[in-house]
Amino acid sequence: MSKPSVKAARSQPSAAGRKSAKAPSAALLAQGRAVDEALAQAYPDAHCWLQHEGPLQLLVATILSAQCTDARVNMVTPELFKKYSDARAFAAANPRELEKMIQSTGFYRNKAKSIQSASRDIVEKYGGQVPDNLDALTQLRGVGRKTANVVLGNAFGIPGMVVDTHVGRLSVRLGLTKHKDPVKVEHALMPLISREHWVAFGHRMIAHGRKYCKAPTPRCTGCPLETICPFPDKRFDQAARAK
Ligand code: SF4
Repeated sequence: MSKPSVKAARSQPSAAGRKSAKAPSAALLAQGRAVDEALAQAYPDAHCWLQHEGPLQLLVATILSAQCTDARVNMVTPELFKKYSDARAFAAANPRELEKMIQSTGFYRNKAKSIQSASRDIVEKYGGQVPDNLDALTQLRGVGRKTANVVLGNAFGIPGMVVDTHVGRLSVRLGLTKHKDPVKVEHALMPLISREHWVAFGHRMIAHGRKYCKAPTPRCTGCPLETICPFPDKRFDQAARAK
């Protein structure tokens, strides 16, 4: 029996996304360009901080990064990838041993289940190779759109718009969307940002969210996007303002 092609469909908006897509206004397009340019100037070197070699390692590292810092994940993965070198090894892992190795990243039982479920699907449906399209990736058990877009963009070089909590929060503050639902934010951002910038844009938004535009309260003093940011509830350091 022939294996399903892993090249079947590239990262594209879903049918639902295409149907609901309305052409953005000129003002919104201009804001998207301005934000993209300002982020590129402020964070020219932003990139994927999760250490990995190849799509499977990135998939596993991204699953581990939920509710956890990239630095913590990077402390765990060298040993993990030494012990489990491919999808078959993860699929066949003793669940308790796997849980123990990833315990420090938090939510380790669920994460171990997701890693093993996705690995089994990869072995059974794709001959052990991580598929390189959004539909197939999001059908792997335990893999959502955010993880799928991280893998597409950073392991396959296929543009994907990653929407995590930082990107969602900043998109609203910067006036790029009013939506809170990550899938709606993703579809709102895609027409505003050049496709070839999607991956870098995600990294830069995350860098900015960590450095200035934090949750729940932004630190707007010195923010390189302040002049183009319409957020009505900016917070400035009073001492810095008084100078
Ligand atoms: S000015 Fe404040 S709210 Fe606006 S992007 Fe900068 S840190 Fe975020």
